Amino acid sequence: MSQSVESVDILIIGAGPSGCVAASIANQQGYKVKIVERSKFPRFVIGESLLPKCMEHLEEAGFMEVLKEQNYQKKHGAKFIRGDKECLFDFAEQYTQGWTWTWQVPRDHFDQVLATEVQKMGVDVSFQSTVTDVEFRGSDSTTTIEKVDGSKQKINAKFIIDSSGYGRVLPRLLNLEKQGESPARKAIFTHLTDTIRPQGPDGQQITFVIHKRDVWMWIIPFSNGNTSIGFVGNSDYIDSFEGATKDEKISKMIQDVPQMRDRFANQTTQVKAHQIETYAVSSKQLHGEGFVITGNSSEFIDPIFSSGVTFATQSGLLAGKIVGKHLRGESVDWEGEYINHIYQGIDTFRTYVTSWYDGSLQDIFFYTSDSEKQPSNVNLKRQICSVLAGYVWDKTNPFVRKHEKAVSSLSRVIRMSS
Ligand SMILES: Cc1cc2nc3c(=O)[nH]c(=O)nc-3n(C[C@H](O)[C@H](O)[C@H](O)COP(=O)(O)OP(=O)(O)OC[C@H]3O[C@@H](n4cnc5c(N)ncnc54)[C@H](O)[C@@H]3O)c2cc1C
Repeated sequence: MSQSVESVDILIIGAGPSGCVAASIANQQGYKVKIVERSKFPRFVIGESLLPKCMEHLEEAGFMEVLKEQNYQKKHGAKFIRGDKECLFDFAEQYTQGWTWTWQVPRDHFDQVLATEVQKMGVDVSFQSTVTDVEFRGSDSTTTIEKVDGSKQKINAKFIIDSSGYGRVLPRLLNLEKQGESPARKAIFTHLTDTIRPQGPDGQQITFVIHKRDVWMWIIPFSNGNTSIGFVGNSDYIDSFEGATKDEKISKMIQDVPQMRDRFANQTTQVKAHQIETYAVSSKQLHGEGFVITGNSSEFIDPIFSSGVTFATQSGLLAGKIVGKHLRGESVDWEGEYINHIYQGIDTFRTYVTSWYDGSLQDIFFYTSDSEKQPSNVNLKRQICSVLAGYVWDKTNPFVRKHEKAVSSLSRVIRMSS
């Protein structure tokens, strides 16, 4: 098969939110940017509930106007249900000054809007182009991509941004893969019609139902009338429906959840059920000579707080800026400007994920007392709400600055008074 060689300043692997944000930011600085994407868009991907923090990234990358035109379901907060108890976080009532809302989006649609917009900005996006190999020579590399017809192409780039999500191209090729620290969990999900959706906020907002201490269900309504349903948790439960297909498993699981049984019992499947196992991933290195890793390709902990896309856009934005600086010959402190920043967010969320699964955060969420309306309790809730809104870089928030201590001390106080 014939091989052609092309040269760009920055090659981005993957046209998900991370790759598109990185591409737009690099393009704004005048670089010749190319994205290579394995799939043909639109393609299904999970990760549909955004966080207010990522609106800043989408805005800076120039996507806000076109996204507002799509009329996606607005998300103003999140509701958690355990038994007969409910806990509602409203992003308008949070500690950090920032966005008070975001969207719930079918990702096939959302990602296609981003990719089309980035093409309009002048970025070359090559679909159905799978990266199979990368040769690094300092800050100069040759990437081989394979097209669906089996033809190969070589692309020379001064810098590579790996935003390949679950493809994890550079961690795999450079042997940087590391098992995530969280215990292996599984997730199974689908989209259903939602024809008896409740009126008002309950029919619109993302809801999490705690089914068992380490198994929970998400309900994410979309503006197209369909709703995303997913179950996440320990493998024993997810695997306990022996002989059932994935679609049958989800139906049986819904029957197991009294709060959602009636609403979803007779709905039609819109997307075949998918199952993902051991989704927690990590990389030994996020940056090296001539490359940086962003989004899910770098690290993913757990879906419980819907942080994945926000990390993807935050790291894509930062990578786009820093690579630009580097190529202009300005000095870059990768450790301070990129790696520490990314881990600040990851480590904060990790505390919340860990304490969610050990039950202590759930106890905080569902704690009620006569003093609930006292100013100090209201303040604590606002601080936690900012974390759930994705403001995990606001170190003035004690629930960010001293995340581990703040969560464990509060949970101890609550356990003693319950
Ligand atoms: C069960 C579950 C539920 C989740 N729910 C949420 C949620 O509600 N909210 C949220 O924010 N996050 C959620 N996430 C996380 C979310 O899925 C990801 O964090 C997010 O999609 C990451 O975006 P990205 O741009 O890094 O990668 P992706 O969106 O995965 O994009 C990467 C792109 O790279 C392409 N690619 C891969 N390999 C190659 C290759 N070799 N060559 C070329 N291209 C390649 C892929 O085709 C893909 O299009 C969830 C995750 C799981 C597992």
